[in-house]
Amino acid sequence: MGREFFLANSAQSRLLLPALIYTLSIVSYAQGVITTDTHRLDQVADGVYFATGNGDIYTMSNALIIEREDDIVIVDSHITPAAGRALLDSIRTVSDKPVTTLINSHFHYDHSNGTPAFGDDLEIIGHEVTYEKLTGDPENEHTYQSSLHRFDNTVARLESELANATDADERLQIENQLNYWRRHVEAQSEIVFTPPTQTLRDKMTLYRGGREIQLHYFGRAHTGGDLAIYLPKEKIVFSGDMILGGISYMGDGYVAEWADTLQGLKGLDIKLILPGHGPGITDVGRISLVQAYYTDLTEEIKRLKDLGYSAEEAAARADLREHERTLGVRQLGANLEAVQRMYDIWDGLIQ
Ligand SMILES: [Zn+2]
Repeated sequence: MGREFFLANSAQSRLLLPALIYTLSIVSYAQGVITTDTHRLDQVADGVYFATGNGDIYTMSNALIIEREDDIVIVDSHITPAAGRALLDSIRTVSDKPVTTLINSHFHYDHSNGTPAFGDDLEIIGHEVTYEKLTGDPENEHTYQSSLHRFDNTVARLESELANATDADERLQIENQLNYWRRHVEAQSEIVFTPPTQTLRDKMTLYRGGREIQLHYFGRAHTGGDLAIYLPKEKIVFSGDMILGGISYMGDGYVAEWADTLQGLKGLDIKLILPGHGPGITDVGRISLVQAYYTDLTEEIKRLKDLGYSAEEAAARADLREHERTLGVRQLGANLEAVQRMYDIWDGLIQ
């Protein structure tokens, strides 16, 4: 396993600073960066590492590694058991302590399907809704099913591109991509949906091993059971997908409630947000920018619905372009799946 450790002030690490494309100032949030075969581990505090896939294996989502005196707590487990095992291998480059506890930020497949990699004795803590989802019919959750189609389509597209490619370099490039996605599709066959062993509704605090870890539920947002995992001493929060650098997937979301939930997040004293996807966010003011989008989307869709437009028409007409500068919304229109879901919630079809 190739392990390279760069100190934050070394010349090399300056080249490795994350691309904070959505902030004007480039601020490093890492004390150091460790590169493993499969991951980049940003050390964000003593014994706390933000784990992102480096492209060797498909992880799809980020994870957090929190070292305590005698053990390790992780938040989220990636998309497949194979990706989870890669995470465990990467953890081994920074600590040989056992991983005893996993916290689910939310139920989505890309954050929870790596869980079996961490063994049968693992304590898994999640929101009650996460438990309901992962013990319900997770295989047939629409978000999971559409991901399976998406990956199959990616493989099919690459196969046809390969069939039509004649240039040797181009063929090699497509073959590499094809192998990568085929490995991911194969890895999906190993998935065993693994629910929390312990649940919470509003708040839980872990005090073991010289580390305070708070789990907060501020309301529904990206799913019905999003947790913010907060380290009060370090002022770091792992936000799952309730806030990302941009707009989150809304297919299981509660858009009309989202801004209120983020208001709860703003009540924490935070200096670094580690999202479920993408790089860390040092500009905490971003919460307000994202919050404004969900508020405006709610108002705009409600306005169009009240005018009698169908969900399709409302999705086509919604104008959120005032969020171009902050969130890159350049086109007229909004995500149809999100708008349809908003209609269904308002019409009482979804609770
Ligand atoms: Zn998600």
